[in-house]
Formats: sequence, structure tokens, C-alpha cells
Amino acid sequence: MKIYNTLTRQKETFTPVHEGEVRMYVCGPTTYNYIHLGNARPIVVFDTVRRYFSYRGYDVTYVSNFTDVDDKIINRSHEEGKTAAEVAQFYIDAYFEDTGKLNILPADKNPRVSDHMTEIIDFVQELIDAGYAYALDNGDVYFAVRKYEDYGQLSGRNIDDLMAGARVDVDEKKHDPLDFALWKSAKPGEPAWDSPWGQGRPGWHIECSAMSRTYLGQTFDIHGGGQDLIFPHHENEIAQSCSASHADMARYWMHNGFITINEEKMSKSLGNFFLLREILDKFPGDVVRYYLLSVHYRSPLDFDDEKIAAAARGLDRLKNAYHNLLAAQAKAQGTAGEAEASLRDQLQAVRAAFEAGMDDDFNTALGLSALFDLARDVNTYLRQDSHEKALLEEAQKCFDDLLYVFGLDFSANKADDNLADDLMALLIDLRAQARADKQFALADAIRDRLSDLDIILEDGKNGTTWKKSN
Ligand SMILES: [Zn+2]
Repeated sequence: MKIYNTLTRQKETFTPVHEGEVRMYVCGPTTYNYIHLGNARPIVVFDTVRRYFSYRGYDVTYVSNFTDVDDKIINRSHEEGKTAAEVAQFYIDAYFEDTGKLNILPADKNPRVSDHMTEIIDFVQELIDAGYAYALDNGDVYFAVRKYEDYGQLSGRNIDDLMAGARVDVDEKKHDPLDFALWKSAKPGEPAWDSPWGQGRPGWHIECSAMSRTYLGQTFDIHGGGQDLIFPHHENEIAQSCSASHADMARYWMHNGFITINEEKMSKSLGNFFLLREILDKFPGDVVRYYLLSVHYRSPLDFDDEKIAAAARGLDRLKNAYHNLLAAQAKAQGTAGEAEASLRDQLQAVRAAFEAGMDDDFNTALGLSALFDLARDVNTYLRQDSHEKALLEEAQKCFDDLLYVFGLDFSANKADDNLADDLMALLIDLRAQARADKQFALADAIRDRLSDLDIILEDGKNGTTWKKSN
């Protein structure tokens, strides 16, 4: 498997730290609001990465944090007259509600800052002891950026350029404008914790260094997040973790690209800033998930209603093939012949194409195109008069394995299809009854209204059947 490593700016062969295991850390949201569409992309991308490692037989440990101590949460708590902890819990619950609709596997651990003060304080103290950080008289603790020689390696920036762009805030007493806060002394009315430097709370970056080390060890395999986290967040995480341990923090740094809306940057000022739940009010979760995976994770992804509608049609084609395959299994009686040998070859080719795409830095666009090849091959085979049951089961296994990786679950829709069957049987009965009662206008209205929904009724010798017209 090859993974593009932001740190080295090239694709590298994946070699795990521990044989057969993958340990991943993905930066999670700051819990002061519902998550937006931009947050949803890394959640879906790294869930899919994780699923593909499982498909490949690795034992995956997946950790994603909640930043539940932050200025934005404190501000929101003042606005809403709640405690910061109440605000954070409310949006953590909302996070699970929203991401549940995207079929995200539960993380092995969702550590919260407020539960890890001991680990964070210990980490800050280690950095002070090792000479990489310093405490001021007011109780603030800063990381001394210039002490860490490799600073800038992830983002490709150098200290001089950073210096030129650094804002010097006269209120800050830090030694160097580049230094960043590890611990902030408490201001009145803010949540605060005891520390060797007095009451205060952690800066943003230190939590990920402390919590990833707690659950994944000093050096783990994959650290992921959105592109916007490369600098300063991940740069600072590396500085903290590597100066504490003198070892790598993560072997592979993966970052997903931005989302644009109608080819414009998503922003509050442009009025095109969407919460995930607003999108999920308009489109089913599986369509959104499928759409987010339709382009390679490092490429920008443009979101507009027409593209989503096209994605929904694509997903329907896959679902139809899958459900036709299940339906054929119930009555399959054929034995192996030429058509069977051909489908068996095609199943192998589909798997090979899927794995080749996904092995190449998780190219989900290629992976999905293998899934469409599978749907096409299955549909072709199903047009035969007889079908071999064992082969249909093999085809279903292939489908299920690929769908698992993409986090698409068609079995849930099967229940809806059963409901559709039942409702259609009801309408067909009512129409037959209307005709028997010579209420022809009503009978025709039923047929016409169904036709508006692209549902065709066919009257035959053995009664009326229905089908979708597309
Ligand atoms: Zn982080």
C-alpha cells in the first residue's frame, strides 16, 4: 500500500510500527457548534481509510478527540447561560447524531481534553524540564519554537518567513513572537484546573500530543486531519511530541482537501456555510457519504445540488444491482457453465481493480468505479435464464466487502424496498377494486399518479405487476 505523506511530500509504502496493526489519530472537532460540511469530509475519509485497513486484515486502533476546552466554547456558554461542560456535551451528542447518519464506525476512543488534564500537565512539565518550554510569572507556559530545530518540516515553512508574518501582541510577554501557548493562566469566569503554574487551562495543540501518546504510544502510524490543520496545529503537535520523545510522532501524515460550494470557498460571509445537519435534511446520509468519497481525498471537492443528485442516481444503480442479486438468490437453481466462469473471472478482476485503486493512496474514485463494474457484470449475468446459487453468493460477498469499505449499507434500504412492495400491492388491489366497481376515473388516477413517480403498472394474465421506469 502506498500513502501520500504530507511530511515527505511523496507517496510512501506503508510499513506499520507494529506488525499487523494500524494505530490512527484523527483530530476531532471543537465542540461549540454543530459540525459543518467541511468537518464531515475528514470524518468520512478517515473512517474509510480505517475500514480499508480492516479489509486488508490489519487490526486498527482509531482515536479521535473532542476539544471540549476552548475560547469558543466559553464564549458560547456565556451567550447561552450554560456551563462550558454543558455546551460541550450538547454538541458532542449532536456530533454522534449527525455522524451516525454517515455510518461512521465508533472510534476506539474519543478522548476529551477535560478528562486528560493530568496527562496534559505532565507533558507540559516534561517540555519545561527538557528546556523546550518556559513558564512566565503570570502562569502562562509557552513552547520555545526556536529550540526545536526541525520546526516547519510539515508545512514547509521556515522560521524566517514565519517571523516576517508573525503578529506581535504587546500584551504578550512571551520570549519570541513565534512561541505558542501550552498552558494559559485562568481569567475570571473561565473554567480552570490546578497546575504547577497556577490555575489555568491548556492551549489547543498540547492536547493532541498528550492524548495520542496516552492511547497510541510515542510513535504511531497515521495522523490525519483536514489540510487546514497542517499549520499551525500539526506543526506544533510535531514540535511538542518530537522534542519530548526524540522520536517520530506519526509515520504518515495524511490531510484531506477542502470542500467548495458551487466552486466557491465555503465561508460564513458568502452565505454558503452549511452545517452537516442542513445537508442531511436535504439528502440521505448514504448519498452524502458516497458523494464525499467520489473524488480522491486530497483533491478539492465541489458540492452542489446537481452533483449530489447525480450521485444519488449512481448510488441507486448500485442498490438496484445489489437487490436484484439478492432476489435472484432466492430462486437460483442453475449450475456452473460458461456465463458462470465469465462472472467468476469478472469478480476477481473487480477485486483486483478495487485493491489497486485503494492501495494507491486510497483512491476511492477508482475503488468506486470497480464497484460499478461489479454492478454491471452482475446485471449482465442476471439476464441469463438460470443462475448458480453459489456464484450469486460469491458475488454478494464481493459486493458486501467493497460496500463495507465505503461504509455503504444496502441492507437497510432493503427494508424500505419491502415496504415499497407492500404499499404497491395495496395500491394495485385498490385499483382492481375500483375497476370492479366501475370507478374507472379513480382506477386511471391511481395509474397516472404512479406514472408521475416513474412507476409503471403492467396488466398481465396473472394480475398486475409494477416496475420502476428507469
Ligand atoms: Zn489535533
